[in-house]
Amino acid sequence: IWIYLKDKFKEDLSKVSFDTWIDSAQVLTVSNQMIMIQVPTTLHKEYWENHLATRIVEYIYEYAGQEITPRFITKDEQEQQDQEEEIIEIPNNIQTISRSSELNSKYTFDTFVIGKGNQMAHAAALVVSEEPGTIYNPLFFYGGVGLGKTHLMHAIGHQYLSINPDKNVKYVSSETFANDFIMSIQNRTQEEFRKKYRTVDLLLVDDIQFFADKEGTQEEFFHTFNALYDDRKQIVLTSDRLPNEIPKLQERLVSRFAWGLSVDITPPDLETRIAILRKKADAERLEIPNDTLSYIAGQIDSNIRELEGALVRVQAFATMQNREISTSLAADALKSMIKGSDKEVTIEKIQKDVARYYNITIEDLKGRRRVKAIVTPRQIAMYLARELTDASFPKIGSEFGGKDHTTVLHAHEKITNAIKEDTKMKREIEEIKDRL
Ligand code: ADP
Ligand code: MG
Repeated sequence: IWIYLKDKFKEDLSKVSFDTWIDSAQVLTVSNQMIMIQVPTTLHKEYWENHLATRIVEYIYEYAGQEITPRFITKDEQEQQDQEEEIIEIPNNIQTISRSSELNSKYTFDTFVIGKGNQMAHAAALVVSEEPGTIYNPLFFYGGVGLGKTHLMHAIGHQYLSINPDKNVKYVSSETFANDFIMSIQNRTQEEFRKKYRTVDLLLVDDIQFFADKEGTQEEFFHTFNALYDDRKQIVLTSDRLPNEIPKLQERLVSRFAWGLSVDITPPDLETRIAILRKKADAERLEIPNDTLSYIAGQIDSNIRELEGALVRVQAFATMQNREISTSLAADALKSMIKGSDKEVTIEKIQKDVARYYNITIEDLKGRRRVKAIVTPRQIAMYLARELTDASFPKIGSEFGGKDHTTVLHAHEKITNAIKEDTKMKREIEEIKDRL
């Protein structure tokens, strides 16, 4: 039955809608009265209930001559542990024509990879581009840098224009809005400014956290917002945090931003990062083995911009060295990047890692027992503390159970000399360093 339903939906819906709503759904159970469908998020559920449920009833009636009640349940609600991550990729077959040069042609729905952290945001973006000004107004995306907020915003613009080629879309950063506004005061062109912003059909304002502290701009934006909202024009906003966490954002703006829907975007998990890399690699026609992509995705987990940067770096490295892309090449290429993004090495961390490495306790390291199995690791830990942090000898002494600075000095000297000859110790220290 699901195959039949999918075929019907495929006929009736656009490709991107099909991929978003139908392909992400699963039939759990069917009886002659009820069909239970599992969907990824509450937003999907709402959309199914309001837009697609009646179609299911029709389709099934057509097929079986029977009335059936569709029910929807989200993955979370279902509370099952077998949550296999689903990554849906939208094939590259939708051409979008951009009339507005303000939209980046690379940032479309079909270049956007969907994963757990952005699934809800993506679904909301699609609803808004197909039914602007109705349910989610304003639509507000928030989340850390490089997680795809700007990309989704542009995708909304492209998709909306592809459906409504004659409409007016405006994308601005909050800074551009502020500058435009200030210029209009200086040049006495406020009338034009208002016309420009209040006659659009879809307004996209990026990074509104930069409205903080800009009283006049906030005042003006308030009026822009009201004019568009009253006209049922869609507004989409992004920020790195929730409106009520933006310092000095006027209360009336905060409350208006909450009228619609706020969705956060969280960092991508490993599978999503791999899928993003695969997509970028294919788009660039890069020959790159899967395990190398997995390696890169495993190393860079902060944000997608850095992930893209890593891929570019690996590519450049391969070209420069005239080598094929492989995992070991990627490791070489990313060495500095990974080190650079590493957390700071602290004395505490050194103690922890050294203790674990030699299978002794941190108390042993900080204590005064003089058996060799403890003394040597203790000295190595002190040595590393001196080499890898900028702590002074007295400071290191105090971190090791209040020892005198001369003890640390002695340990440092001893290890420095020892590793000139003792290759085993040298190797061990290198290994600990790598783990740090
Ligand atoms: P933000 O605005 O949240 O700081 P961006 O939208 O600028 O982040 O995204 C940073 C980069 O990562 C862009 O090049 C964008 O195309 C890419 N990117 C982000 N999310 C995705 C995704 N889900 N799929 C593919 N590329 C993505
Ligand atoms: Mg951005």
